[in-house]
Amino acid sequence: MQTRNCKIVATLGPASESPDRLMMLVRAGVNLFRLNFSHGEQAGHAKRYAAVRDAEERIGWPIGIIADLQGPKIRVGTFAEGSVKLSYGEVVRIEASEKPGEAGLIRLPHPEIVEVLEAGDLLKFDDGKFQLTVVEKGAGGLKARVDFGGELKSQKGLNIPTRRIPISALTAKDKSDLAYALDLGVDYIALSFVQSAADVREARELIGNRAGILSKIEKPQALDELPEIVALSDAIMVARGDLGVELPAEQVPIQQRRIIRTARAAGKPVIVATHMLESMIDAPTPTRAEASDVATAVYQGADAVMLSAESAVGRHPQTAVAIMDRIIRAVEEDPEHWAGLQRDMARPEPTTADAICLSAREISDVLNCAAVVAYTATGSTALRLSRERPRCTLVGMTPHLSTARRLTLSWGVRSVVTADATSTEDMVEKALQVVQGLGVAKQGDRFVIIAGLPFGRPGKTNTLRLVRIE
Ligand code: PEP
Repeated sequence: MQTRNCKIVATLGPASESPDRLMMLVRAGVNLFRLNFSHGEQAGHAKRYAAVRDAEERIGWPIGIIADLQGPKIRVGTFAEGSVKLSYGEVVRIEASEKPGEAGLIRLPHPEIVEVLEAGDLLKFDDGKFQLTVVEKGAGGLKARVDFGGELKSQKGLNIPTRRIPISALTAKDKSDLAYALDLGVDYIALSFVQSAADVREARELIGNRAGILSKIEKPQALDELPEIVALSDAIMVARGDLGVELPAEQVPIQQRRIIRTARAAGKPVIVATHMLESMIDAPTPTRAEASDVATAVYQGADAVMLSAESAVGRHPQTAVAIMDRIIRAVEEDPEHWAGLQRDMARPEPTTADAICLSAREISDVLNCAAVVAYTATGSTALRLSRERPRCTLVGMTPHLSTARRLTLSWGVRSVVTADATSTEDMVEKALQVVQGLGVAKQGDRFVIIAGLPFGRPGKTNTLRLVRIE
């Protein structure tokens, strides 16, 4: 089982989805796989899902699965000629219509969006490669000036960073994919283009606790409600692809840092995603800047880093995972990394669970313990422990496979499925077997156990026990 703290998420796709390749990625260090519902059919995702579960059984430790919903991705309509040339300074008409556009006329199949746009709004097409500014609003539509142009092709994506879009975060396709993914049994549902806390509430009504909700932060509007969105979500993703289209590039690192801090303070796992080792889609080694980018996320205390196209369609998925693994391990060996994690630590909340997790961290530091073992039914005790970022090995022991799989995303936690303890002696005995089985503690070592007694009742972390292996 992995021995690093920051986890690795890999997106599955043609380059990685065959059972053999997928197994190689697991051996190279992947902790969770992402099924990207923006691409492919539902049946294809079911095959990938089954392949991950097979690999999990073969490797013998839990692997998480994230179903990433497409969300309300807005697209330009078609063009009669397949594309249209946009020249700098040109003013074009924009209409709401399903009909194809033509030279000087862009059509958007989204009347509700055209309706809310005003002069001054920015329209960014095709990942921000082309930008137009709305200069006039009239009865028949809009006029917009080309700020940077080129050959805009049919159905390319459109981002409108300057306005809240009056669409729910779940489209009809998302609702169908969501039901499908929940039936498969995925561990997290990633919500794309979340704009508000209300979007997360709407998703929660449908998902309940059948999967964790992973909110992707990629809209400036979500940044305005970040603490509320984090509080309502089970995990967060810094989705830098779209975030970098919606915000000026220089804002991305600043917001990345802020999102990580907010999630860490709330004890919610946070993933840094997109373009981490982008050049490895083709090249067998990363650029220095990419290595530095992965390292920065680790120094900032992110719970996980993610591969997108690198593992889905790249030429070197296994090498990309291996290199990510090496970068993470190198940072985690740097004493400065630990100093930084402690410096950025949010204060514990005034709860029994936080007081016990803080004590477990301090005791394990002072006595140089080999591990802290958290008995956890819902995962909450392990999450609060992970929030403390202790230096020794963290083990989450749970009777539920679903909890063990969700904890694959949490910084430092190695999750193990075991039956609940029946007594305090049994609690010590089971923990002892697990830490010895994992090879993290040997004779003479000490470890800490935290738990909620009586067992089987969630939400009551009230016990700390220090054990010395005789
Ligand atoms: C992103 O935009 O960074 C992201 C992770 O989302 P997607 O890959 O679905 O575009």
